[in-house]
Amino acid sequence: MSLKLVTFTRPEDAGPRIGVLVDATTVLDVLDAGRARGGPLPFDPRDMVSLIAAGEASLAALRALSSYEAGRLPLSRVKLLAPIPRPRKNVFCVGWNYLEHFQEGERIRQSGQTLPDHPVFFTKAVTAVIGPHDPIPYDPRVTTQLDWEVELAVVIGRAGKNIPEARAMEHVFGYTVVNDVSARDLQRAYGGQWHKGKSLDGTCPLGPAIVTADALDPNGLRVITRVNGVVKQDSNTRYLYFKIPRLIAELSLGMTLEPGDVISTGTPQGVGFARTPPEFLRPGDLLETEIEGIGVLRNPVVA
Ligand code: ZN
Repeated sequence: MSLKLVTFTRPEDAGPRIGVLVDATTVLDVLDAGRARGGPLPFDPRDMVSLIAAGEASLAALRALSSYEAGRLPLSRVKLLAPIPRPRKNVFCVGWNYLEHFQEGERIRQSGQTLPDHPVFFTKAVTAVIGPHDPIPYDPRVTTQLDWEVELAVVIGRAGKNIPEARAMEHVFGYTVVNDVSARDLQRAYGGQWHKGKSLDGTCPLGPAIVTADALDPNGLRVITRVNGVVKQDSNTRYLYFKIPRLIAELSLGMTLEPGDVISTGTPQGVGFARTPPEFLRPGDLLETEIEGIGVLRNPVVA
């Protein structure tokens, strides 16, 4: 059975801790549970990347802790952070990985582009990462065209370089949700170089949990965006154009992937800029991005 792993803070202390979601309303505080059991853990219970790096040993320890009552807290008592609050390197992203999303963009661009032969990779700065319920800042001096992009994200477990497609899934630790919030005006303003328009502070809501790869099939998950309760994107990961093994093989060719690296796999049709008329986020909007089997990000847009 997959584990749902979170990073959270308690009101009485600021530092992050790792938790396991026991059910919809209960989280297992791994630090407290480990202390109650005694004996060392194979990872630092305050650091998700160290847990991921220890791989199978971590999962075995967490399963053992989960069968005890010690360390359980009501989920309502804690604040969820992004499961990896500050990834060690930029969040990797893929442009145009659903056919319909490419087509809706091409209707606007009218550039006669055809789908790429290779995935189009770009990254989001680590400072863009926020938690599953944190506000997305809205500053009209910076952008007036904030847009949504629900995406399935892969969390790398075992490090690797030149990973063949056939072995790629052995390097996946788990999956989470990314909202690749994008400043469309900035994407255009910098000569079509996307990095700035994808990296504003607070434009990478991540979480709410990392679901371990053991019992989650990433190839048939419904992906949904709602703005103020209205469905804007509703697709399924089965329509990914470049599948996860291909993305890992291409990205790791000549470039080392490490534990805790996040690869967001692209967004389906239904983004704001391609709608008629175009729609962008406004202060007061509530943005919800959801992936079946993983969870929902609920982020207000705040001036
Ligand atoms: Zn994206």
